[in-house]
Amino acid sequence: MKLTNKQWRLAARPVGDIKASDFALTEVDVPTLGDKEFLIRNIYLSLDPTHRLWTREEDSYMPSVKINDVMRGFTLGVIEKSNNENYPVGSIVTGVVGWEEYSIANDSSLVSVVNMDKRLPLTARFGLMEHIGLTAYFGILDILKAKHGETLVVSGAAGAVGSIAVQIGKIMGCRVIAIAGSEEKCQWLKNDLGADETINYRTADVSTALTEICPEGVDMFFDNVGGKMLEAVLNHINMNARIAMCGAISTYGDDEKPYSPSNIYNLLHKRAKIEGFIVLDYAQDQRWWKRAEDEMTQWYLQGRMNYRLDIIDGFENAPEALMKLFVGSNKGKLLIKISDEV
Ligand code: NDP
Repeated sequence: MKLTNKQWRLAARPVGDIKASDFALTEVDVPTLGDKEFLIRNIYLSLDPTHRLWTREEDSYMPSVKINDVMRGFTLGVIEKSNNENYPVGSIVTGVVGWEEYSIANDSSLVSVVNMDKRLPLTARFGLMEHIGLTAYFGILDILKAKHGETLVVSGAAGAVGSIAVQIGKIMGCRVIAIAGSEEKCQWLKNDLGADETINYRTADVSTALTEICPEGVDMFFDNVGGKMLEAVLNHINMNARIAMCGAISTYGDDEKPYSPSNIYNLLHKRAKIEGFIVLDYAQDQRWWKRAEDEMTQWYLQGRMNYRLDIIDGFENAPEALMKLFVGSNKGKLLIKISDEV
């Protein structure tokens, strides 16, 4: 039977906030597989702030998506046909493919077979592992090298990456200050995830709140937000502080130059360090990656780690749903459910 494939393509470069009309839905036939190729039926599409970066004219850590190209995205799917013995039919795979119902990949694609502990639900792949949980893991353990008793601030703390960073910070024995954009999110961070203090940045001035909450300063900052949030925290860094620049969601829609903190020289005064990192780089070192997956699995099974999902049914809803990330209405890892789990 002939298979058709719905795909979301980038129709226009977004100006300011991303809009559903920046994407166009198309439908094509699924072609016959070539040598070494395999066909993935996508089950979940991960919607990520980085999609806004990829739609910009200029390249970032990945090339910009071209107008009329299928939008790039992380998916979790199952192989339904294969001409490649390394990717047998029935395997669950994740990778960077496209916003589409079916993807065709080969050995050189950024796709890998998932070997996950069967005690974890399939969705843990995106809630707890991959570019979400493992970003938090590498940020806290490798970039910040968190130590017991230190003060850690996390911005975007109720989001997918941030909420895992908060929990790893607590497991490492840090005092964790979580910054988020609603009372409900702050309550969840404190009551369910164990954050020591929270700041609702929509109702409080972050720098003023930190003066009160952290009279002895901030040792580490896991930053998902950038811009003015980074500026506010830079006011409070201690000697030899470390900042993990994970993301800068507050700047992704800036059409001109992204906002830069005016107090960046506090890094000099405090002999502090700021380091950007991209989780995909860690995938090159399978020992690091495996260690992270094993440790995260143990923490989850021991009940020391949890995650929240915001799943929206229906591939057609992807562009509309993406906007949730930029207004803060997602509660946890934002996913589109494209087809049924196996
Ligand atoms: P989230 O689940 O955290 O969703 C985004 C959240 O960001 C929103 O819910 C909102 O929460 C907050 N937000 C949106 N706009 C603003 C703003 N202007 N100011 C302050 N907060 C804002 O997304 P992810 O966890 O997937 O991503 C978090 C960050 O991590 C992003 O910057 C992303 O680019 C980065 N990232 C980096 C990776 C890497 O390898 N370095 C890998 C994966 C993600 P609220 O209600 O609190 O405002």
